[in-house]
Amino acid sequence: MRKLKPYNEDSFEFYEAVVNSKKNSAQDPNYKERLQAHEALISDKFDDYDEGFDDDDLVSLVNHGFINQDKTDLIKLYSYKSKKMQKLKIAVTTTERNRLLSTCQNCTISEVNSFDHFVNKDEFPEFSVHPKNLFPSCTKCNSYKGQDWRDQGQLTYLNLYLDDLPEEQYLFVDINIAHDDAVSTKFYLDNPHDIDDLLFTRIENHYKNLHLCKRFQENADTVITSLENTIRTYSDKLPIEDIIDLVLENAERDIQYYGYNYWKSILELAMVESDDFLEMILND
Ligand SMILES: [Zn+2]
Repeated sequence: MRKLKPYNEDSFEFYEAVVNSKKNSAQDPNYKERLQAHEALISDKFDDYDEGFDDDDLVSLVNHGFINQDKTDLIKLYSYKSKKMQKLKIAVTTTERNRLLSTCQNCTISEVNSFDHFVNKDEFPEFSVHPKNLFPSCTKCNSYKGQDWRDQGQLTYLNLYLDDLPEEQYLFVDINIAHDDAVSTKFYLDNPHDIDDLLFTRIENHYKNLHLCKRFQENADTVITSLENTIRTYSDKLPIEDIIDLVLENAERDIQYYGYNYWKSILELAMVESDDFLEMILND
């Protein structure tokens, strides 16, 4: 997981541009007028959001309480496929190396194909197209996330526009080699390096609610097979110690780019530290 840089232009201008892109239809000839009637109020609400975002205090937001037609109108503003949303996605997923980060950073497994509303849009329809409330996400994470975003005054999920992830290791994996050489993995979280309790609890909730450890396990085979192939390819040409060094160096580079506790790198490091795993490959 890595942080993304949030939208850095005026949030309310983004909202106005989305409203302007909407058209009245024969079935609904007053849609735009209804939206425009709320502009002053939405502008105030956007200020509240921006302030909460700048102070890292989104948890304290109070909703306006839009209901019925007004709520439907505001939620309808959001459409992932619209031009404005696609432009936003490109803006926030372009890295410092000018590449597009196409993998969902909530899980680092699946492709981005939606926006997660960090503050949920059912409770806060006023923020359905607030650009800092939209985080590029896969639909799997989005569907696991549901409505809950805060609990007893604490945020339930990591906000990867705001949260600095710890550099200490908190994701671990056990590797087991069965008699038939089948490799199985068990990912888990632990806090042996004393990461701040509040942050570690948020990390735990994020991983638990999005079923990340189970999803890493389900996707582990591609990483295992790829590492097995690398080791086998080099094993005729280099001593095993040198191959391990190369794997470690490569994992370190990935961690620099994809973030500390990147599950693929954690798995690679655990594999080359496993005597059983190396023995299985080299004796094959
Ligand atoms: Zn995801």
